[in-house]
Parts: sequence; C-alpha cells; structure tokens
Amino acid sequence: MLLLSGRKPLSATLTFLMFVLFLLTAACAGGRVVQVPAEGRFPVPKYIFLFIGDGMGPAQVGLAGALLDSSGTLAMTGFPVLGTITTHAENRYITDSGAAGTALATGSKTSVGTISMKSNHRDTLRTVAELARLNGMRVGIVSSVGIDNATPACFFAHNAKRSSYYDIAVQMATSGFDYFGGGYAEGDFPRNRLKGGVNRPDIPDLMKRAGYRVVSDRSSLRSVLPGTKCWAYTGFDDKAAISFEMDRKEQELSLAEFTREGIRLLDNPKGFFMMVEGGKIDWACHANDAAAAAHDVVAFDDAVREAVAFSRSHPDETLIVVTADHECGGLSLGNGRRGYDSRISLLLRQKVSLDGFTRKVAGWQASRNVSFSMALDSVRVYYGLGDASTDSSLALSGEERLALSKAYREGSAKGAGGSTATVSAGGFASSVTAMLNARAGIGWASDAHTAVPVQVFAAGPGSEVFGGYYDNTGIAGKLIRLARFGARR
Ligand SMILES: [Zn+2]
Repeated sequence: MLLLSGRKPLSATLTFLMFVLFLLTAACAGGRVVQVPAEGRFPVPKYIFLFIGDGMGPAQVGLAGALLDSSGTLAMTGFPVLGTITTHAENRYITDSGAAGTALATGSKTSVGTISMKSNHRDTLRTVAELARLNGMRVGIVSSVGIDNATPACFFAHNAKRSSYYDIAVQMATSGFDYFGGGYAEGDFPRNRLKGGVNRPDIPDLMKRAGYRVVSDRSSLRSVLPGTKCWAYTGFDDKAAISFEMDRKEQELSLAEFTREGIRLLDNPKGFFMMVEGGKIDWACHANDAAAAAHDVVAFDDAVREAVAFSRSHPDETLIVVTADHECGGLSLGNGRRGYDSRISLLLRQKVSLDGFTRKVAGWQASRNVSFSMALDSVRVYYGLGDASTDSSLALSGEERLALSKAYREGSAKGAGGSTATVSAGGFASSVTAMLNARAGIGWASDAHTAVPVQVFAAGPGSEVFGGYYDNTGIAGKLIRLARFGARR
C-alpha cells in the first residue's frame, strides 16, 4: 500500500511531462508548409451549417460507408474538402464533449466538463452561434441527445459544469435563438428541477413565456410558421435523447426531419447558422455497439443531406462543415480474432440496438416467464446468432452457449430487481453484441473516448480553409472570419 502510494506522484509527474511534451510538439507542428487561403478572399456565406458527429472518428465514418450506404458513398464523404483535427482538452489528452464542444463553438481550449467558459470558470466565451445572432442571422440548434447535453449546450449556454442541466436548459429561453430541435431537456426532469426541496419552474413554461412555440409531434411542428421561435421534440428516453436510429418508431422524428423543419423555419433573407449534432453515435460507441453506431452515422449523414439539398438552391451562399468532437470506443475495422478475414456485413443481422435489447432482456428476466432457450430464439431473431443454416459463422459454440446461459440465469435469479436486473440483462445483451461484433471483424479498444484525430468535411464558399491538419480550436475561427462576424459585430 505504502509502496503503491509512493509511486503515484512519480507516475503523475511523468504523465504531466508527457502531456506538456505533446502540447509543445503539437505547437511546433503548427508551422505550415503550404499557405492556407485567407478567409477574407472568399464570398461571405449566408447560410452556415456545422454538423458534429459526437464520437465519430474516421473508423465510424468508414464503417457506416462500408455497411449501410447502398450507393457506397455517404453525403459527407462526397464533399470536396477534407481536413483532420486534433481534439485534446486544455487539461487532458483525451477530451469530453464539454471541452471539445467549447473548442468547436468558441475557438478556445477549456477543461473537461466545461460549457463555453474558460477553465478558470469565471470568464464566459462567446460562441459562433451567438455571434451569428448578433450579426442578424437566425440560429438553430439540433441534437439527437438532450438539447441541454454538452455539445448543443456549448453553442447557447455557459456553465462550469456540463451536468448542471437545469441551469443550462434555462439558457435556451434567454438565448434569443430561433429553433431548438431533437431531444428533450434533461434539466426539466424532476431530479434536476428540484433544488433545496423546491421545484424550479418547468422548462417548457419558461420557453413559452420567452415566446417559443413548444411542439411535441410531427404535424404541430409542420404547422409552425417560418420566423416563429420554436422548440421541437418528439419521443425521448430517460436521458432526454431521441431513440437510436435502429429503434426509432415512425412517430418519432429523425435527426434529418428535425434538420429539414429547422431549415424551413430559419430560412430568411438575412441568412442563418445551424448546428446539428449526431449525439447517439457516441452513446453507441460507449456501449461498443457497432451496428447502432453505423446506423446513427447514416442518420446523421441523412441530416447532412438536408443541408446539401438546401444548398442546391443557394449554391454560392451555403457553407457546410461536418466534423466530430472526438472519437469514442477506439473502434477498429479489423480484429485479432479474424485477422484479414473481416465480415462487416454480418452486422446487418442485428435488428435492435444493444440498449433496446437490454431493455427487452430485463423485461423477460423480471417476468421470469421467458426461458433461456426462448431467449436464445430471440438472439437468433435480433442478432442472427445461432442461425447456422444461413451462415455457418453465425453458429454459437458450446462455450458461448454456456457463457450466455450463465449470464441469463444470473439475471433471472435476481428477478425484478430494478437496476440490478438491468445490469444482469446488460451482461447477457452485451455478450451477444460482442459475439456478433467479433465475428464481423470489429475491434473495440475502449468504452470511453480516445484521442484519435477526427475528420472535417467541407463544401461551399470558403470551404478550402477547412483542409489540412490542425487543432479543433481552428474551426470556430475559420467560420467567424469567413462570415466576417468580427467586422460586423
Ligand atoms: Zn461520450
């Protein structure tokens, strides 16, 4: 014990020195060989889209392209300009969506968990969305996770802590922005509204009092007139997020539909700025659920297609930038088990997200009327595993059956034990998902974020400046200079 605690300061010092060395190297690499075009040379974009795939590293983009796009190309990978950005936070090599979102929204580094404030947690940082509004543009914020979650929050709110959902959600009402679409506000959940034994005002009420139409179904959203301030959401889970694309029901709006309606509401002669986040790519990768991640990348790309469709009628005035805040999961297209022999298409056998399957299994275990062999039948239906008649590689080995049986019976023994049952169900469902991922040749190095640099795809006037290898703080500065926000402020 003594020895261990004695070693800690040395390893901490070493880690810190390595981080400083890394920062110095990164700074030196900033010396450019090729002259980057000056933003002032390009026409001012009137309509600006910034798409952020949360957790979407190069492998996530590659996986979606390989697996799900029948034409072989995603909209974003067809863009003429490709760049790469580093993502580290001010105080950590591996970032989070708070620090990375702040970098993308404001052009400044901050500490992990911080929402558009400096790491001193006193100074607020002006966001590109706020500058757009100050310059007379309409502003829209869309996300597939809670609208007060870190990435969207970084564009309209300022807070020292990303988990202060209520305080962040309140800032939607004071932002003056024109459209919020996608997930609900986690800040409005009873656990977040309650402070000192008192319930603070509900968020939809605050929004209505600030002049917003608050709509929660498709036809109501379609009836909102352009120019009306609006907050739109449909279905949401216990973290205020919309469903994984794999699990989405017809009545729930897709990310693309929230984007399309946003464009309709924001379109006006003075232009607009719109940020759209594919937030659940990250959640799928935290769960090491490759199929769900790929489907959500495609859903995100469908939202990009809406911007591309809009740009066809405004080709010289629409700038579209697509990037990510960080990679998640250390996703690899290839693994040690299969070597060179990957079978990515096996992932198409998965019909529900791991999250959705976990909830099903928890239900079976709680009711105790679904036997293990019935559960295995469902594994065949939802994952194809055990269905050796169509593909011999889908057969389950005796060892795998034994492991699954153990995981399933453990969950059933615990019965209707609330979260305990869900944890056990998660063990069974995670094992099933991991078995399919391994057969497909998918590798996962982590259940957290990684520091793998991410891509930037750009199209439209001034898109050239987004090419090259640079830091994530470069994005906001390029947008601000292209839009001449500084000059018009
Ligand atoms: Zn994450």
